[in-house]
Amino acid sequence: MRTVNAYAATSATAPLAPTTITRRDVGPHDVAIDIHFAGICHSDIHTVRAEWGQPNYPVVPGHEIAGVVSAVGSEVTKFAAGDRVGVGCFVDSCRECEFCRAGLEQFCERGMVGTYNAVDRDGQPTYGGYSGAIVVDENYVLRIPDALPLDAAAPLLCAGITTYSPLRHWNAGPGKQVAVIGLGGLGHVAVKLARALGAEVTVLSQSLKKMEDGLRLGAGHYYATSDRDTFKKLRNRFDLMLNTVSAPVDLAALANLLKVDGTLVLLGMPDKPLELPAGALIRGRRSVSGSLIGGIAETQEMLDFCAEHGVLPEIEVITPDYINEAYDRVVASDVRYRFVIDTASLRG
Ligand code: NAP
Ligand code: ZN
Ligand code: ZN
Repeated sequence: MRTVNAYAATSATAPLAPTTITRRDVGPHDVAIDIHFAGICHSDIHTVRAEWGQPNYPVVPGHEIAGVVSAVGSEVTKFAAGDRVGVGCFVDSCRECEFCRAGLEQFCERGMVGTYNAVDRDGQPTYGGYSGAIVVDENYVLRIPDALPLDAAAPLLCAGITTYSPLRHWNAGPGKQVAVIGLGGLGHVAVKLARALGAEVTVLSQSLKKMEDGLRLGAGHYYATSDRDTFKKLRNRFDLMLNTVSAPVDLAALANLLKVDGTLVLLGMPDKPLELPAGALIRGRRSVSGSLIGGIAETQEMLDFCAEHGVLPEIEVITPDYINEAYDRVVASDVRYRFVIDTASLRG
């Protein structure tokens, strides 16, 4: 076992603070990774603030991990020391069920092992990327293409795959009208990916404050959800809508913007249930669905796609002592567009 520096939350209200954790010895199938960068996802905040139920404190969040391999186990074939790698939202799964075999490990019947706030297959708690190093089975490690800088690549491991997977699943591409609701961490990557896939993209944000950014990121249209006219103008417009809002939204108003057979995909997971009148779906054979991150193979495909198409998250790199302020800014929708922690001071 090895002791590693980390930042942890010890309760729903205490600020995250420096601590140490242990990482297991490198087993035959393991990859030891020096973490260089970790993105701050809104899910980290929901988790540590107990908005999704009581987590197991201490929580070391972080599931947008980018780093460099420092050592590999004797049986590892996919990676070698010095490789640039990433780790996303899970670090293991049963590998045997229908969904694991289909590359949909996020829906593993026995439950994927979350990168943090979960129990690993050896019975030990998992700790995430706000730390100096991590040890992960090689089958749950991603390769970061050379064209992607490690700091900007980090958010792709969650925000990237969470938006890429539904865009692909619901066939976003040329001739398709795609709406992205909420221009935060997920939303801004969704705009870039949908555009790179060839779709016509519309941003629906609370206000027009970030309009210039939205258009620069690749949106063709930008509307404020605070303006009720928006919901008249855009009625029956979209084939696909991705809701990335972290707070409750007016589902009926949004669903009315779908074309016949259009789909509204829920990605944001607020702590309160949403209301959905049946008529909003019935009139238009519309669907409301959900999507959870993506499997390992699709995550690699997404990283390669981003390298090929020059899709890079827009980031603000911070030091670990700024994490608590960054959390408050994310909650206030004051993030442009992903905070990424430089973990240099935690390595050693
Ligand atoms: P984020 O950076 O905070 O972005 C969320 C955006 O939602 C904000 O930038 C803001 O955009 C909008 N928003 C926030 N509060 C709002 C409010 N009260 N009313 C209306 N709009 C509001 O968060 P994120 O990291 O992108 O994550 C977004 C959500 O997705 C979170 O709930 C997170 O847990 C969830 N998530 C789900 C998955 C999955 O697999 N399904 C994966 C990762 C994250 P505007 O300012 O443009 O309105
Ligand atoms: Zn996330
Ligand atoms: Zn499984």
